[in-house]
Formats: sequence, structure tokens, C-alpha cells
Amino acid sequence: MSLSSLPPLREVIETHGLAARKSLGQNFLLDLNLTGKIARQAGDLTDCDVLEIGPGPGGLTRALLMEGARKVVAIETDQRCLPALQEISSAAPGRLEILQGDALKIDPLPALGTPIKVVANLPYNVGTELLVRWLTPKEWPPYWQSLTLMFQREVAQRIVAQPGSKAYGRLAVLAQFRCDVRICFELPPQAFSPPPKVTSAVVHITALPAPRFAANPKILSEVVARAFNQRRKMLRASLKGMVPEVEAVLENVGIDPKRRAETLSLEEFCALSEATRLARAK
Ligand code: SAM
Repeated sequence: MSLSSLPPLREVIETHGLAARKSLGQNFLLDLNLTGKIARQAGDLTDCDVLEIGPGPGGLTRALLMEGARKVVAIETDQRCLPALQEISSAAPGRLEILQGDALKIDPLPALGTPIKVVANLPYNVGTELLVRWLTPKEWPPYWQSLTLMFQREVAQRIVAQPGSKAYGRLAVLAQFRCDVRICFELPPQAFSPPPKVTSAVVHITALPAPRFAANPKILSEVVARAFNQRRKMLRASLKGMVPEVEAVLENVGIDPKRRAETLSLEEFCALSEATRLARAK
């Protein structure tokens, strides 16, 4: 059987008894036109390996293979999905490897060849955790070229947010520090089965070769976490204890200690991180 002659996804779900489980964040995409549209946001896949998290019954997996991905490595925790995924694997011999288990615990790298793109309709329960891990690897550039990910719209907005907006916070700074980010399109709840309560959005994130501004990534993460943990407070209060003379450090880089975290640009956060690093090295 070829990929295009696989049965419709509704039939696959029925045949394999894949009643959606809320605890696993299961909201399936059954429209192959839509999964094709998501796969195409990742650009040309023909010379890439693709990492997919949570293939479920395999709607997006099929689209990635039909768009020409060299190989798809898919991590799925729900054992019930394996026979359905096995059928896709048989229709695309040698091009789909399924790793069964928790994506937070499995290292997919041994199964992947470069270049690597990540494409996933993420389970909501682990989506943000996975994103933060992808954005904060030990080395930069990371192993992946791009991330094309489905999130709740609210999370997508936090990734692309600009200073001064309510959505601006840790995710925006971590993502925009070393990546280009954009929201591709939104999807209404009815696009999924069963429909979730919220609107979703596909985000495309491309890794830059180097950070936009110089900063130690670990210190930047720490500064941003502290600053936004108490986002209503002035920086002199929220960053208290980070370095002995925090007001002087802020003033040295031209930041008024009375400002709040959400007013700082990415460049200012990077400058503040560098000043923190230097103050600690004294
Ligand atoms: N990709 C499919 C689609 O678009 O129809 C399913 C998407 S559904 C939102 C999320 C999928 O992630 C489910 O199949 C679920 O079983 C799986 N999942 C949930 N937690 C997981 C985890 N920790 N590791 C791997 N897969 C997980």
C-alpha cells in the first residue's frame, strides 16, 4: 500500500480503537489538507530528517512523508497508536522510525541524520517544556534547523510577543534571543477531534547561526526568570539579591531600576545579563 492509499484517519481511529485521551493531550487532526499545510510551513523537507513528537494516529506524519521528508522519527507515548503508525511505516519503507515512550525522556538524536527539522502538533501538557529545552541546548547552533509547532494560541502569542505587551515574558526573550519567530496561521477548535476549548496556532521558529546580542545564555535565562517571576515589581525589587549592587548594575547599562521587566527590550536584557556576569566575576 502507498501513502496516498492509506485509509482515512477516522477509519484508522475506529479500527485501532483510538478514543482520544485528555490526559495525553490528544486532539487529533483528521484533515490531510490541513496536516499538509502544517508540514509545508517547515519549507523543503526533501533533504531533511524530521523529528515529530506525538504522531497519534499519524495525520501529520503522513503529510510529512508525502511532502518528501527523507526520514521521520516520531516519538509517541501511547502504545495504542503503534499499529496505526506501523501501517504508515509499511507504506513508506525505511522512512518512518517510531520511538515509543515519553518525549521528555527519550533522546532521538541517535536515530536522526542532519539537517534536522522538528514538526509537531504538540501535546499541551508537555509542549512548553519541550520548547524551552529546544531553545536552551548546551551548544548553539542547536541540532535542529527549525521548529514548526502547534500550540494553544496564547502560547504562540507569548513566543512572538514584543516588549510592552501582556504576552511578553520569558518565552519571548528565550525564543527571540537566537531565533526568528513567526505565527503562520491559527486553527479553530473544530479543526481537531475532539475539539479543544481553545484556538490553536502554528508557530515557525528558525535557529539563527548566532545570538542577536552577546549574552551568556544561562545568565540570561536566570535574569529573565527572576525579572518576570515578579513582573509587576520594579526591577530593583524583582532582581534584588541577583548581584550585590543590583541598582548600580542596572544603571551602568542605562536601565532605570524603577522600570518593570515587560518594558525591557531583548537588547537590554542581554546587556543586563552581561553586566551581571561581569559583576559576579569581580
Ligand atoms: N500528531 C497527531 C495529530 O496531529 O493528530 C496527534 C497530536 S495530539 C495533540 C498529541 C499527541 O502526543 C498524542 O498522540 C499523545 O498521545 C502524544 N503525547 C502526549 N504526551 C506525550 C509525551 N510525553 N511524549 C510523546 N508523545 C506524547
